Amino acid sequence: MQIFPRSIMFEQTDIDRVRELTDLAALIGEHIVLTPKGREHVGLCPFHDDSNPSFAVVTHKGNHFYKCHSCGASGDCFRFVQEHLQKNFAEAVEFLADRVGMQIEQTGRSDPAARNTADRKTWLRKAAKAACDFFCKSLEEDAGKQARDTIKQRGIAPEMVERFELGAAPAGWDSLRNALLGPELPEKVLVASGLLKKRNEGDGSYDTFRNRLIFPIHDETGNPIAFGARALSDDDQPKYLNSQEHDLFHKGRTLYGLHLARASIVKSRVAIVTEGYTDVIACHGAGIENVVGTLGTAMTDEHVRKLARLCDRIVLVFDGDEAGRNAAERAVRNVFRHPVDVGICVLEQGQDPDDMLRTSDGKQRFYQAVEASRDAIEYLLERFQERLDDTKGLSARQRTLEQFIETLRGLGLNEVDGLRRSMLVNRIAEVMAVAPRDVDALLRRTPAKAASQPVAENEQRTTGARQIAERDLLAVLLFRPESLKETGLASAAVLSADRFFDPAHQALANTMEDLLQANLPTMQAVLGRLDDESHRELASRLYFIGERLAKDSDETTTEHPLLRAIAALDDRVQEEVLRQELSDWRNRDDTDERTPADVIKDLGTRKRRASAILRSTGND
Ligand SMILES: [Zn+2]
Repeated sequence: MQIFPRSIMFEQTDIDRVRELTDLAALIGEHIVLTPKGREHVGLCPFHDDSNPSFAVVTHKGNHFYKCHSCGASGDCFRFVQEHLQKNFAEAVEFLADRVGMQIEQTGRSDPAARNTADRKTWLRKAAKAACDFFCKSLEEDAGKQARDTIKQRGIAPEMVERFELGAAPAGWDSLRNALLGPELPEKVLVASGLLKKRNEGDGSYDTFRNRLIFPIHDETGNPIAFGARALSDDDQPKYLNSQEHDLFHKGRTLYGLHLARASIVKSRVAIVTEGYTDVIACHGAGIENVVGTLGTAMTDEHVRKLARLCDRIVLVFDGDEAGRNAAERAVRNVFRHPVDVGICVLEQGQDPDDMLRTSDGKQRFYQAVEASRDAIEYLLERFQERLDDTKGLSARQRTLEQFIETLRGLGLNEVDGLRRSMLVNRIAEVMAVAPRDVDALLRRTPAKAASQPVAENEQRTTGARQIAERDLLAVLLFRPESLKETGLASAAVLSADRFFDPAHQALANTMEDLLQANLPTMQAVLGRLDDESHRELASRLYFIGERLAKDSDETTTEHPLLRAIAALDDRVQEEVLRQELSDWRNRDDTDERTPADVIKDLGTRKRRASAILRSTGND
């Protein structure tokens, strides 16, 4: 993703102010469920498959940052919006400024250089917004008559038309093209966004959506990113047409209506997932607002992960036909890895939520059906049981059982942890009338996969006494920047680049040193300054190490943790120098007449000199 040069786009003071005003825990709490724990808020990490809450939001002592103890994701409010909501930096600043009610000027808006760096996603967003406005307007005009009739006929209330921003694509070949094409939205962009199609022969392009009822598809913050389009005439095929996927739009990651359903999902801790646009709209119209839709795909891993962060239970609603039953079985395949209960609700034969909710007792029947949904594993076991019942003979049954276990293992059941795993094992054993330990043994038959490379690299990064000493010194300062004042030491002396051997430590020391010129650095200020992701990850990891060191120090010694860390690092550095000197001396040539005692004496002097320098710089 192209990052805007920050100084071109906004004043640094404005950026700092927006960050200051943003309640990070509240912001993140809108996207994942956070539970207060000590001085932090913890939850399931939105950036990796997390089954134990390893994501922490720290908001004490003026710090506001997040950090995943498992995958290392970390940052401030801007970073969160960039990574979780797929926005670029400029959009993140505007989004958060808007959220805290701040007017913020882009300093480089008229600068062509800045405009040229505007990335693809910004263009795509712009195109989708313009198209959405165009379709909404068309719905009210003559061109929208047929679409309006269909809306009426489907019983969609005017408030729902407005809330979901339904629209109409006129029947012509170039209505949208004529309305949108211009210097602001060149053909290239409109084609990339799937709104126009290139002609097979010759130049030019034509409207993708013609004579259709338009269902805009929004991102999680409510911006349109793509479109679903329903044919208005039986002659037009297919009946439903979706935007092609592009940088902003991936069917497997997008849930229809999530921006409208999120608050209700978080509140009820239940998410209901239906299959179509009209089902979602019908539910919201009936006042059931914790409902989202998949976009013509089975529930993906990404979908489950997204919802698992908002609720404890997901209910997948399927139409009561064979296609629905098969879709249900496919959907179940992605749920084990996630710490969320999944219910499968297959409606009566020939029913879908939209039909159901249009009957007088529909809402009640819909709730009953959702209430009666079966646990996903139960559902899978039932389908398996049917197959097992058809299998005759002991060894054939054994094979069926092994195949089933193999399927479960393929679905990640073996990676599910602790209690949840043993519950699943017991349920399987029960259905199959075998002992739980047999199921367990079958599941464990393949050895666990070897530790992955990145972990090994991580270990490497933190080995070595010098590394650890450097790390601890930075950690203490990150957690307690007031340490400098408390000990009377000068930042320039403590954070001088030659104290640190590791380049990442040097980068972090430089950043802190810069910030310390103005003020005590907060974590969010440090994270905001670090452009390298691995450096941000390091900084937030060190913060927690600093917290631990400060605590240890408070409990075990009266020595200031900063002084202790500096002394430890100096010892390590001395040790290295000593080792180097001795090795040099061993390999000395004839002109060097020093004895080992001379070398040691020399080193002693040097050590005293180092301490003296430190003390003197601290006192000026
Ligand atoms: Zn993570």
